[in-house]
Amino acid sequence: MSLQNELKIIKNLPEFKDLREEMTLADEKKLRKIYVQKNDYIAIVGYKILKDFARFTSHEDLSNDKIDYAGKSRIYLTGLKRRGVYRRASEAILRQYNEQYNCATPDHQCMDCYNCFTYGGVIAVKNETQAIKSRLKAITAFSIQSDEEALIDEEEFHNIVHNDFRMEQAEQGQQKKASIYNLLLIKPGVVFPFIDIIFNPTKFDLSMYLEMLRRADAMGFGSRSSLLGTMETKIIAITDNMKVSHKDLLTKITINETGDVICEELTKQLSKDEIVDDNQLEKVRSLLPELIKKYSNKIYGSAISENSTAKS
Ligand SMILES: [Zn+2]
Repeated sequence: MSLQNELKIIKNLPEFKDLREEMTLADEKKLRKIYVQKNDYIAIVGYKILKDFARFTSHEDLSNDKIDYAGKSRIYLTGLKRRGVYRRASEAILRQYNEQYNCATPDHQCMDCYNCFTYGGVIAVKNETQAIKSRLKAITAFSIQSDEEALIDEEEFHNIVHNDFRMEQAEQGQQKKASIYNLLLIKPGVVFPFIDIIFNPTKFDLSMYLEMLRRADAMGFGSRSSLLGTMETKIIAITDNMKVSHKDLLTKITINETGDVICEELTKQLSKDEIVDDNQLEKVRSLLPELIKKYSNKIYGSAISENSTAKS
């Protein structure tokens, strides 16, 4: 086992950037840096393994999302859904380090804290409309296994009664909708290769991202209140020059008979300076408490009351 040094891409990241800072435009107007999108990014390439049953759906009938892609019918986990879970996990981390933190999505976005600068925000009040684009782009992930392999086939699982599965009822005029129906869940062990991109990245972003993943994986990606869909994430590479396509991920990552994920074919396509090991990742993740303390004012912005300070 060779213990690699810090990845060059990680080493070259600035520790932190205050995106609240203003720059002066040609017409003398001021613009916060957060509104300027640069094509400066890191892409995180890896895969998620489902650890329990899940339902990834954007349909009213709660059927799992599936699509024909790269040669078979596959389950997919939308980038939007993934980013939604990421944002809530990130919010929970910021609150863990400062109980006064009061930015909350979707109803109380402050537009002035780290989470709003990372995951974006919208204020839709007349004459005060503001929108910040998300710097973190999660691309929709597709299952390695076909939907047939991915979905449960045991009869007893087909009917599950659960609060969360009740259909929303119209207040009047419509027939009541059924509240119990056949349900197909995705099996544990299904693998979803993913690409997450962070624009204008810093070491703090990466550290926060890695901590956030642990929390998000434990929260689950199934459905908000169902506690389904917990996952485990393995990161293969971090690159600032994306040459891997979704098709590469789905054809060059395979699963052998014993259920192990094999990604040698994929890593051949990446350079040594992009492939990352767990020790390198753990080193960045462990910087988090220190960096939150150091940049506390800039991270929390006006989303904390004035007198509070971050817990050490
Ligand atoms: Zn905020």
